[in-house]
Order: sequence, then structure tokens, then C-alpha cells
Amino acid sequence: MRMVDLILAKRSGKAHSQEEIAWIIDGVMKETINDYQLAAWLMAVCWQGMTLEETTWLTDAMTRSGQLLDLSEIGPVVGDKHSTGGVGDKTTIVFAPLLAAAGIPMAKLSGRGLGHTGGTLDKLEAIPGFSVDLSIEQFIRQVKEVGAAIGGQTAELAPADGKIYALRDVTATVESVPLIVGSVLCKKIAAGANLIILDVKCGRGAFMDTEAKAAELASILAEVGKRLNRPVTAVVTDMEQPLGYAVGHTLEVMEAIDTLRGAGPPDLVELCLVLGSLALVSCGKFDSDEQAREHLSRLLSNGQALEKFRELIKAQGGDASVVDNPSIMPQAKLKHDLLVPGTGKQWIKHIDGRKVAEACKLMGAGRTQKSDPINLAVGVVLKGKVGTELDGGQPVATIYADSEQEYQLALAQLKEAIIYSDSPVAVPPVVRAKFG
Ligand code: URA
Repeated sequence: MRMVDLILAKRSGKAHSQEEIAWIIDGVMKETINDYQLAAWLMAVCWQGMTLEETTWLTDAMTRSGQLLDLSEIGPVVGDKHSTGGVGDKTTIVFAPLLAAAGIPMAKLSGRGLGHTGGTLDKLEAIPGFSVDLSIEQFIRQVKEVGAAIGGQTAELAPADGKIYALRDVTATVESVPLIVGSVLCKKIAAGANLIILDVKCGRGAFMDTEAKAAELASILAEVGKRLNRPVTAVVTDMEQPLGYAVGHTLEVMEAIDTLRGAGPPDLVELCLVLGSLALVSCGKFDSDEQAREHLSRLLSNGQALEKFRELIKAQGGDASVVDNPSIMPQAKLKHDLLVPGTGKQWIKHIDGRKVAEACKLMGAGRTQKSDPINLAVGVVLKGKVGTELDGGQPVATIYADSEQEYQLALAQLKEAIIYSDSPVAVPPVVRAKFG
């Protein structure tokens, strides 16, 4: 087989065989396929898509590119959750300790920032000492002892995804249903959890910009999961505006800590309660969503979820005093408010998540090349969300920057991101649909 022929076949809209897909993933692993040919193939997949069979074979080949974890020694139920990526999405940092506090062991393999979206691993690295590079033995031991671990792709687990993911990020080949399905599910299946909740984001801040595209992705995730004997529940959730108020690594960890303390933004809390109650009901721990929600709300307000996060940080080498003193994380040098224009009352009508992310990227919060360092300190904290009433001249957001020049760039972008109305605007629901 020659890679150039497979690129041509895919570019012309032909379906690959299982053998061809296995050959490509093998070549990625053995590095017999170079980055430029792989990038060209990824672009062809992006344009032409894949059949359900191809997507299933791709997922299976990526899963088998490394070791498959057997977590049965941890217990009959081991949970995992994954998001398709959004802006301000710090859900995992809340969800993993929350579910662990509820008695569901959480074995979570996360990713780095991709495209305009942030990555959980990058965010957690804002905590001094925190290591996401866990060996498989450490990962399993920690899930057993602490109840939760959050690790990254290792050379051992779904390593093909690590290579492809980094290349997609810098070749504009992220927004592809089969590539997202393969990437998300291979990590979930390889990591061995059997209670898998997928959060499929839709809207301007997500890779799927419409609810219809997100629903298609969610249903394919559920179908491919079923075909590979790993049933998943996929939920379509709103990413028209950023999740919560904070966007940026340090700032999002701070918001996650507030949420674990019972003082989180309503949309983030709601999302964690919906995903959490789905997990608790589907594994039979509770009979109804209401009972499960009540229990999870209690764990957020009584400090047990936060205590679990402290344990998780310590187990991964991090400084757990961050929970009481977030200023030990990287801090931006400048902080300026963006004010609501005009003088009268205004309601926030729209906050373009992608533009907010671009503003953060202009300050160094995202990567342009796969090896780029990122600035963990910079970001934006909104003072309101869609539906919030504000007065002209009041701050609508605070920009955290490291230089006046970067601040000005971010300010121009952020001004364009926020649209106002002179009449009340309804607060949009966070959860749109459920599959699987
Ligand atoms: N999350 C992933 O792990 N992979 C993607 O492709 C998108 C989101």
C-alpha cells in the first residue's frame, strides 16, 4: 500500500477498507507515514467524511495502537466522561472528584487544548507540581486508592490519538465527525471504563456549530460505542456562549474550585448535576435523577467533593494548598475591565465563545504550532452571561493579560464577542438532548 494512493482515494470520496485504515494507523505508530502525508489524509477525511464502518474501524485501530486497560480489579463500575471541547469547559475538573465523592471510581484520560478550545491537562498544569503524566500502574493505583485520576495519553494508551490530535490542532482538521469520534472513543475504550458519559458541545464555541451537527456526532458516538461493545451515553449541551464565567487556564481552575465549594456558576453546576445524575442512575446507584441530583448537590455544598479534589491533586504531585490559595498558580501581570457601552440598562444577548477564545489565544493561551508553550495565567472572566441585565458603564468582563499590547488585541476581539439587547433576553438551557 502507498499513502499517496490512500490520500487520493479519500480525496475522491472513496471508502477505505478495514485493512487500509489499520495500515494507516500502523504507519502513524511506526512513523513510516510522515506528518505531511498524514496531514493531507486528515484534510481529505475532513472534506469527504467516513462511513459508519470506516469510523468504527478507525476507532478500533486507534484503540489498539496501545495497551487496553482492564479495570475490573477496581470494581464493577468505573466511570469516565469526555467533552468534545468547548470554551471555558472546566467540567472534568469538577466532575471527576464529584463522582468519586459519590462512590463512582473515575478513570479519566484527558486531552490538551485543541483548535480554539482549552484542554483539561493544560488547565490542571496551572497547579504547581501537578503531573498529568501518570504511568498505567500509577493511574490504576490512584483510581483504586483515591477514587479518581486524570491523566493524559501516554505512550501506552491510545498513542495514535496523541500523534493525530497534535497534528489536527495545527492543520485545521479538527472539525470532522469521524476524526472526533475516533479520537474521543479510542481513549475511552482503551482506558477501560464501562460507564461512559460524553458531553457533545454545540454552538459557536464548539466544533459542531449547530444542534443538528452535534446531534449527528452524539448519535454516531453512541452507535460506534455500541458496535465496539462499549455503550456510551451522549448528551448534547450548549456551547453558544462560554461555560461558566472564566476562560483561561488558571482562571478556570479557580472557577472549578469555587464550584467544588458549592459556589459555582449556575450553568456549570447544572451541567455537572445533569451529567452526574445520568451516571449515577445508569449504574443503578440511584433510582431517579432527582435523588441523584440531590445527593450530588449535597456533596458540593458539604465540602466532600472539594476534599476529593484535594486528595486527587496530592496524589498527582500537586500543591493542594491551591484550593485555599489559588494565587500560587501563574498570575497575569495586568487586569483591566471591559465596560458595557452606553448609559441605559442592557441585557446580554449573545457572547461568541469562539471570539472569547480567540481573545485568549491572542494573549498566548492557545497553541499555533504543536510544540508551542502556552501562557497559563492570561484569560477573561465574564461578569454576566446571556440574559444578564447590566447598566451602561458597568464592567461586563475582566481581561487578564501579560502586556499592554496583548491586552489591546484581546480587548478589540472581546468587544466584538459580546452583543447587547435593550430588552430582556431569556437564559438559554444548558442541556439540549440525550442519546444512548
Ligand atoms: N476531544 C477529543 O478527545 N478529540 C477530539 O477530536 C475532540 C475533542
